[in-house]
Amino acid sequence: MPNNKRIAIIGGGVTGLVTAYELSKKNYEITIYEQGSTLGGLLSGTTIENHPIERAYHHAFTTDEYTIQLTSELGLSNDLVWYPGSNAIHFNNRKYPFNGALDLLKFTPLSFFDRIRTGIVILYLSYTRSWKKLSSKTAADWLKKWSGMDAYRIIWRPLLQGKFHDYYKDVSMAWFWARIHTRANSRGKSEELGYFKSGFSTLIDSLVKSLTERNVIIKTSTPVNKITSTPSGFSITCGALIEHFDYVVCTIPTSVFARLTTGINALSDYTNQLHSITYLDAVCLIFSTPQKLSNYYWTSIHDTNIPFVVCINHTQFVPTSWFGNRQVYYLANYFPQNHPILGTSDKTLRDQWFNHLLEIYPQFDRSVVREITVTRLKNAQHIPFPSYENIVPTYATPVKNLYLSHFSQIFPEDRGVNFAIREGLKIAKTISESE
Ligand SMILES: Cc1cc2nc3c(=O)[nH]c(=O)nc-3n(C[C@H](O)[C@H](O)[C@H](O)COP(=O)(O)OP(=O)(O)OC[C@H]3O[C@@H](n4cnc5c(N)ncnc54)[C@H](O)[C@@H]3O)c2cc1C
Repeated sequence: MPNNKRIAIIGGGVTGLVTAYELSKKNYEITIYEQGSTLGGLLSGTTIENHPIERAYHHAFTTDEYTIQLTSELGLSNDLVWYPGSNAIHFNNRKYPFNGALDLLKFTPLSFFDRIRTGIVILYLSYTRSWKKLSSKTAADWLKKWSGMDAYRIIWRPLLQGKFHDYYKDVSMAWFWARIHTRANSRGKSEELGYFKSGFSTLIDSLVKSLTERNVIIKTSTPVNKITSTPSGFSITCGALIEHFDYVVCTIPTSVFARLTTGINALSDYTNQLHSITYLDAVCLIFSTPQKLSNYYWTSIHDTNIPFVVCINHTQFVPTSWFGNRQVYYLANYFPQNHPILGTSDKTLRDQWFNHLLEIYPQFDRSVVREITVTRLKNAQHIPFPSYENIVPTYATPVKNLYLSHFSQIFPEDRGVNFAIREGLKIAKTISESE
């Protein structure tokens, strides 16, 4: 039975789809607005060699309880498969395996003393649970102090730069703690990572199928321009289209939320706070080739002259047979939103990045590359500044029945599909309990 309450969900990424999925069990009348032509947001897909793949590399961890639970609820458990991941660091034109304590002990760019010291730091971060006292410190300062300058310069700084570009010195140590802590707890003897046999589009497609069966209206290519508060609820404006709702859940970046709600005076203090949240965009170059360049799934690039920070051999993780026995690679980096590279053409970008790939893999032969796709992901990562917990906006805004749920509210953990599912469930519960 419809319960007559109308809910608008803005943003058709994982958080928005899961919010809708959960609320649709309670028979609300739900409409999802997504500006893109497809659903899934940062998890949205494309194809390469006729096989689905994500526009940005994705995998699940064994600790991703919400992903595993939702996958099971949707009847997809047999589609989620687990394979070992393998990691390396490219430094000074050499690759070093980097999968655990033994590899750290053999990591000769660091002195033996610094290897031991770094191992102790990793152990401490893996076991301690008290992240709050770390939050006001920057990861850069804390790591320099406890791991030593060489370990910071050779291992940690490139990792921070890889994720936060120019903001690498401004990241809370609590965020860094969560990365090490979560990852350590997902590792058994060797780390297994999860992936769907037909890519994560399996999860998105299944959610969309359920939503359609439950009469949720899904509007893609429909960017919301404005949200206004009315005596009876809210108006959502998308170009010439104006629709009315009792509840609005925004699963969009905080900066976009602030722009859409400028007309709601009661929100001014709330949105002022949102301006301190800064986002980066991500760029990925995906290509297929018959050449096997790397024996590792994930190679972190620690030579700072190279314009991408990771080289991922996706087919060192999942079977090459999915891609007609070709190898599939991602090269990727995050950039501040005013960075010139975001304005360069796909051709210029791939020419530059392929030239640098030759430095890493001299055997790389561009002439045998088969398919190339450049993807650009807007608002892909926020900067968790020191004491970030103090600026995280609340989910319930000062306006009754207007909610904001975005990955930039997750802290100290890093954003991820698992947390997007958790947040979607959380906001759906808040709404259904508010009645
Ligand atoms: C390079 C990269 C690698 C990643 N790797 C992993 C990984 O390995 N494992 C993992 O778990 N997670 C990974 N993630 C993170 C994961 O993709 C995200 O945490 C998750 O997809 C976030 O979902 P979301 O719905 O919260 O946000 P989003 O996906 O950002 O969804 C927000 C949606 O809102 C839409 N929108 C914005 N403005 C409007 C508007 N005005 N009107 C209508 N719609 C609008 C956007 O188009 C988008 O679809 C990765 C992310 C990136 C960028």
